[in-house]
Amino acid sequence: MNLAEGIRNALAKLTGKSIIDESTIKSMIKDIQRALILSDVNIELVYKLSKEIEKRAKTEKPPVGRTMAEHIHAIVYEELTKIMGEGRKLELKPQRIMMLGLFGSGKTTQIGKLSHYLMKRGMSVGVIAADMMRPAAYEQLEQLSKQVGCSFYGKKGAKSTDVVREGLQKLKNDIIIIDTSGRDALDDELIKELKEIDEIAKPDEKILVMSADIGQIAKQQAEEFNNAVGLTGVIITKMDGSGKGGGALTACGVAGVKILFIGVGEKIDDIEEFKPEKFVGRLLGVPDFEALMEKIKAAAPEGIEEVPEELNIETFYKQLKAARKMGPLKGVFETMGMVNVPKEVLEQGEQKMDLYEAIINSMTKAERKNPDLIRKQPSRIDRISKGSGVPPAVIKEFISQFGKMKKIYERLQKNKGMQKNLMKMFKGKGLGF
Ligand code: GDP
Ligand code: MG
Repeated sequence: MNLAEGIRNALAKLTGKSIIDESTIKSMIKDIQRALILSDVNIELVYKLSKEIEKRAKTEKPPVGRTMAEHIHAIVYEELTKIMGEGRKLELKPQRIMMLGLFGSGKTTQIGKLSHYLMKRGMSVGVIAADMMRPAAYEQLEQLSKQVGCSFYGKKGAKSTDVVREGLQKLKNDIIIIDTSGRDALDDELIKELKEIDEIAKPDEKILVMSADIGQIAKQQAEEFNNAVGLTGVIITKMDGSGKGGGALTACGVAGVKILFIGVGEKIDDIEEFKPEKFVGRLLGVPDFEALMEKIKAAAPEGIEEVPEELNIETFYKQLKAARKMGPLKGVFETMGMVNVPKEVLEQGEQKMDLYEAIINSMTKAERKNPDLIRKQPSRIDRISKGSGVPPAVIKEFISQFGKMKKIYERLQKNKGMQKNLMKMFKGKGLGF
């Protein structure tokens, strides 16, 4: 039984019950505890979480319109989200990224995935093969770079520090990712090598790659690497193949390191930005309806329920932000009763939203109010491109699609109501989703 099944079975105890007594709550909590402990979540953390759920389930009254069972569902969702580690988004900007990790953690594979992820978002990527320990590390990275179409630099039999120095000179890409050596454990020799590479490359990101199957040991490992070279984040791989993913994620939360991505398979596309709400939503089966509704309410002051009279990029941005606060697109669709939206549409939607956020962040207030300014003065596009790291062609596409969307918006304006507005934004006629 995996974590998701365990949690779902626990919650199933509430289904259909109009009165939920103390023993039902206790038994549900016991099941949740068991599922978390099997997933190698730290015992103390499990007890803290249980206490919190129990206290809230006993003392809180469900809000109007919500049954007690639904409310407890929401409590479990919220409390699990709090312990599942903190996500952080990798900025789409020119930068150097150093990847670290022990043997077999999935470092080299994630470099392939990450390059692919970044290239899909318009960045040019080069990778440096500075793992001199693994016999076939060079070939593996070279092969991956061919597969994703990024630049590659490596030199067999050289010193890793020389390879990094030369690679940084040769590669002219926006983003450089450095693969480094691993070991069975972090030892002095590895620390020394990593420190030297750190000194030469001065990376913006130092990302530790850890496999989910190490469970709660992830805490200690993250702390050790953090003390040795300083980390900016971690990637937890093999979330697909290990029952201990919950343990690894919660351990990162305790260690205070942010989780950038999770690896969910061996293929080049099998990488996901880590968002605790999304992760827990999935654990609970259908992303939690009630929790989503809560978030919709919480997001309302930022403009989701208030339909802007005039749609400009400023008001669009507010809606985009508010919608994103609600969590994964899939959940948003499901809340609206659209359960069969194809996976590709959702994924593309998420990717586009990332790009749009980056573009809009680099626009001036005046441009957001009146995108015609950009159409009239194309030099603005170059400035936005530099600021956002998004290629000019994509920005042009955004402006043009925004124009189309605005027309649709104005037509649909008569039919106010949150659902319709959300659907307009995501379903996509004008936005090309
Ligand atoms: P490195 O020694 O840290 O560079 O590890 P590799 O990148 O060579 O990966 C070790 C093994 O883990 C390979 O067989 C990969 O295919 C596999 N792997 C990497 N990421 C994932 C993942 O997210 N899920 C699964 N199931 N396997 C993965
Ligand atoms: Mg490797």
